[in-house]
Amino acid sequence: MNRLRNTDIKFLRGIGPKRAELLKKHLGIATYYDLLHHYPSSYVDRSTIHRIASFTGDMPQVQVKGRFFSMTVQGEGAKTRLVGLFTDGSGQMEVVWFNRIKYVRDAIVQGQEYILFGKPSLFNSRWSMVHPEIETEATIQADGSRDGFRGIYPIPEQLRTRGFTARSFSLSVREMLSHIPQLDETLPPWVIRRMNLLDLRSAIGAVHNTPDMATLDRARFRLKFEELFYLQLDILRYSRRRKDTTPGFIFSRIGYYFNTFYSQFLPFPLTEAQKRVVREVRTDVGSGRQMNRLIQGDVGSGKTIVALLCMLMALDNGTQACLMAPTEILATQHYESLRALVAPMGVNIKLLTGSTPVKARREIHDGLLDGSLHILVGTHAVIEDKVAFKNLGLAVIDEQHRFGVAQRARLWRKNIVAPHVLVMTATPIPRTLAMTVYGDLDVSVIDELPPGRKPVKTMLRYEEDRFATLSGVGRQLRQGRQVYIVYPLVKENEKLELKSLEEGYENIRETFRDYKVAYVHGQMKPAEKDYQMQLFASGEAHILVATTVIEVGVNVPNATTMIIENAERFGLSQLHQLRGRVGRGGEQSFCILMSKRKIASTTRRRLELMTETTDGFVIAEADMHMRGPGDIEGTMQSGLAFDLHIANLTTDSQILNLARDLASETLDADPTLSAPDNAILRAELSRQHNRLVDWSRIS
Ligand code: ADP
Ligand code: MG
Repeated sequence: MNRLRNTDIKFLRGIGPKRAELLKKHLGIATYYDLLHHYPSSYVDRSTIHRIASFTGDMPQVQVKGRFFSMTVQGEGAKTRLVGLFTDGSGQMEVVWFNRIKYVRDAIVQGQEYILFGKPSLFNSRWSMVHPEIETEATIQADGSRDGFRGIYPIPEQLRTRGFTARSFSLSVREMLSHIPQLDETLPPWVIRRMNLLDLRSAIGAVHNTPDMATLDRARFRLKFEELFYLQLDILRYSRRRKDTTPGFIFSRIGYYFNTFYSQFLPFPLTEAQKRVVREVRTDVGSGRQMNRLIQGDVGSGKTIVALLCMLMALDNGTQACLMAPTEILATQHYESLRALVAPMGVNIKLLTGSTPVKARREIHDGLLDGSLHILVGTHAVIEDKVAFKNLGLAVIDEQHRFGVAQRARLWRKNIVAPHVLVMTATPIPRTLAMTVYGDLDVSVIDELPPGRKPVKTMLRYEEDRFATLSGVGRQLRQGRQVYIVYPLVKENEKLELKSLEEGYENIRETFRDYKVAYVHGQMKPAEKDYQMQLFASGEAHILVATTVIEVGVNVPNATTMIIENAERFGLSQLHQLRGRVGRGGEQSFCILMSKRKIASTTRRRLELMTETTDGFVIAEADMHMRGPGDIEGTMQSGLAFDLHIANLTTDSQILNLARDLASETLDADPTLSAPDNAILRAELSRQHNRLVDWSRIS
């Protein structure tokens, strides 16, 4: 294995220095080992040939078989392209090349039969394929892959235009394997036997050059299992060590603050689920071990009040507490609502964000150090190095999916005794997954909404319905309700984003002249943002025109209607989060998804699902399967300390569970992995750690 890791890819036959440079630049493939681990992301059945006449809008890569009947060079300069007309007898399409024009034109023989492999797209009502892979019967015979499955590799455009193809990848791997007599196993023999796994060499061979589906399944299972097993071993090893060695504050008392608040200031009776979670936290913080707990609760389930009760426990035991939120808007809002609740009891609470003035900041720093400041609410500013507490007993992190493991680790270093940590999220993900993504948290669930909530009625509407939609908004406004109008963020083009927002704002002001309209977007100065949000939160403004900056946590119970413009551009989880801003009071609320009429069928399914359910778990699950834009998986996967090449945390949850069970069992029997049988495990873990960031050491 080490030889593989150290051998530069340029030495592989057929690669050479130039192509090696490209592979490194665009895919990070530098060594033999890297190439072996660049797996196909999916597979197509070689025996299926599609017909041009039955192409549809959102097809993946497909194979077609037919002939070129013309080849012309079109355009000039940078726009020069080679356009071939291709027919399979059922229809015709354009095949376009922007690079290697001369080479392709010389190589293609008109009238000869080719098999093309690429993604069809509809352009000016004509089908076309850009830079497809091209094969002939002869090349297929030669590499013997006639009946198998063809891997689809993630190949960036820059490489595809330079002649890198799925075929060249699988052939390079085959070439490489033929020169490597043996591939050192990376799992101990007992694991392979126990899980009935394919050996490493066969598995790697089969994912790149697939003999048949059954072998491919076993090969993928083996590689996925391995990745997840090491991930779990690493997480469990770390968390067990931390639990053994990290003492926590013991909150032995329930005292003045908690009791007074509970008996006199609690604004509503807690739901059973809220009470249960408070009890779970109470048990944790009384145990003498540091608490690391995740509270999962759908939007509107009432996580904030639970957090407050926990912070009061900290105060009762002579320590301080802090609450961190991912955005300034949310932090401000938490601060204001919490202050209103606890100030009457003499609790000193302050807000710290990036825009807190220097003088106020200094006062906060002083108050934290001498202990006169009890609760600090804020954004990332809270974990800055300058912020030091006299005695921080509990840190609460809201909407944790926006925070990385590293940031959490910084909190642990705020005290000699690590503070208890409570993280809250509305993203409902399965337990094992939560433990994997968030490292080592225990999980509590608030699975009940406060009484009297009516599910938000959600409707899908198109441009021609706009007038009727706005009349509905008018009715809500006349009843004294407030309304959100949300525009998507257009990352690629901030100017455009602002333009659509500003136009929308002007239109709305025109339409509803009798009402006050506030507006916020991400590029505003924080003070201006605050001011606008405040206008809406206080009820002075009736309509809030906003980008997704309001996605997280904002609470204005009187707002009963939300219009989401260009809803087709949002992912499911994001829509769910946004919709969670309405339906927070006792009134019937509405969410109107405005969409283009012409949308891909998967997009339509996404929007329809939103109209059918308000259950966050159902939505999260669907999101994982549909993988629309904005899916949570990307965010989650990026927070991991390990790269996953083939396993997918959401779709491979069963393998993840198996891996976790075996990892746990392994560590029960051999906590330090010092048994000879486990030598490979130890070696692999330390090797991976040399390569990757060790989150536990980031501070
Ligand atoms: P989230 O879990 O999304 O953070 P919040 O904590 O913001 O939810 O609570 C949503 C709304 O529900 C708030 O207006 C809050 O005051 C209210 N709420 C929370 N718990 C209860 C309860 N037990 N009974 C009635 N209203 C509640
Ligand atoms: Mg919240």
